[in-house]
Amino acid sequence: MVDLSKTYDVLVIGGGNAALCAAISARREGASVLVLEAAPKFYRGGNTRHTRNMRCAHDAATDTLTGPYSEEELWTDLLRVTEGHTNEDLARHMIHESKEMLVWIAEQGVRFQPSLGGTLSLGRTNSFFLGGGRAMLNALYKTAESLGIDILYEAPVVDLDIDGATFRAATAEIAGRRNIVRAAALVAACGGFEANIDWLKEYWGPPAENFLIRGTRYNQGSVLKMLTIRGVEQIGDPTQCHAVAIDARAPKYDGGIITRLDCVVFGIVVNKEGKRFYDEGEDVWPKRYAIWGRLVAAQPDQIAYIIFDAPSLKMFMPSCFPAIQAPTLDELAGKFSLDAATLKNTVAEFNAAVRPGTFDHTILDDCRTEDLTPPKSHWARRIETPPFYGYPVRPGITFTYLGTRVNKQARMMMADGREAANMFAAGEIMSGNVLGRGYAAGIGMTIGSVFGRIAGREAARNARN
Ligand SMILES: Cc1cc2nc3c(=O)[nH]c(=O)nc-3n(C[C@H](O)[C@H](O)[C@H](O)COP(=O)(O)OP(=O)(O)OC[C@H]3O[C@@H](n4cnc5c(N)ncnc54)[C@H](O)[C@@H]3O)c2cc1C
Repeated sequence: MVDLSKTYDVLVIGGGNAALCAAISARREGASVLVLEAAPKFYRGGNTRHTRNMRCAHDAATDTLTGPYSEEELWTDLLRVTEGHTNEDLARHMIHESKEMLVWIAEQGVRFQPSLGGTLSLGRTNSFFLGGGRAMLNALYKTAESLGIDILYEAPVVDLDIDGATFRAATAEIAGRRNIVRAAALVAACGGFEANIDWLKEYWGPPAENFLIRGTRYNQGSVLKMLTIRGVEQIGDPTQCHAVAIDARAPKYDGGIITRLDCVVFGIVVNKEGKRFYDEGEDVWPKRYAIWGRLVAAQPDQIAYIIFDAPSLKMFMPSCFPAIQAPTLDELAGKFSLDAATLKNTVAEFNAAVRPGTFDHTILDDCRTEDLTPPKSHWARRIETPPFYGYPVRPGITFTYLGTRVNKQARMMMADGREAANMFAAGEIMSGNVLGRGYAAGIGMTIGSVFGRIAGREAARNARN
């Protein structure tokens, strides 16, 4: 039984990777630790449940990584994807600490595997969790329990008592009752606000109603909001997030990676008016997949359709839902309630603009269109061989970047420039410190693991003093 009348050394809010790394790290420093997770046990672990890998610097190949990935190279990659919208000091610190993570996280029971087909381009840089994010979490929870960390599920934090720059207590709603939870230090590791449609609407307007949330419904950003209202400095652009195009048939929440569609480069993408709106062959897919969430978000009713023909069907990783098939473009248009004449015209214009080339989807090939707006710069092949296929797509929000400002100790910074006395943050809730925009696959878990470990350690030391 968890005794809520006692004062813990460290309270961790959240139940994903960042929270568990923080809790374990604090406990290993000798602190008593309570974890409050909003979700029921089955859904514990937030967005971390959906992950597959993390990106850490390392000096040499390992059993599961094909070669070295230096700190400098990781930094260069981060700088490129963020276009400089990152805190160099903090990011370099994270990258340096990431080198220890592959060992540390394995010591907490997590196992890795080599990357599989379809993800081979990440085989040198990213470590894949054996069994995926859920197995990774199960290992962390098992370790946490064995260390004597108290964990409560269905225990959302609904209020925070903060006096100046000092955390005093949290209020958790458990079984319909509000409980005051006291601790000497706080680690907030409870995600972004990506599942809070009303909050998203503040920046995106009514279109946000049509966004699908790829991960947990529990990341409502309520703690982030409370912290901000109580004087913690916010960081990041609220409109910046990771968003991809996912199957429009995906559930509102928790569709996960199996609803992602990687076939944009093989066909054309039209909006509900049957018109193309962006270069589907701009760059290799891993570099471009994260722009399509935003592109679809800007279309009428936030819906679009990927259209391709028979030769492309087996060329990409299948998703959870089958492609919609029709013997003619007329019938395919009907299945999507698109105007058949417009769709056929769009395809005809596209086909007429395709120039001969040697198709190779593994490189930036020479199959492109000419005199077409927007162009298709690579992998342009005529869409002419029935049956014809289509996927309806909507913006799928992965996670938001707005967060709390922290320093290298993962200690929150107050809006008036002071350091928080006993408040720390890790994971999505502070990702905006490192990710001002853009994304590099696997960096979300790096942010959570590295800053989680630091936050837990620092919170424990803070509690002791
Ligand atoms: C489909 C998908 C695939 C992804 N794949 C990858 C990948 O392969 N690699 C990668 O690096 N990143 C990936 N990401 C991003 C990654 O999931 C996140 O960056 C990472 O999991 C964040 O960890 P976190 O602990 O900060 O947040 P989360 O894992 O989301 O955990 C937040 C926790 O806080 C809890 N919580 C929220 N509010 C409260 C409250 N008020 N009180 C108590 N608890 C609360 C939630 O229930 C949840 O348990 C993926 C995301 C998605 C959605």
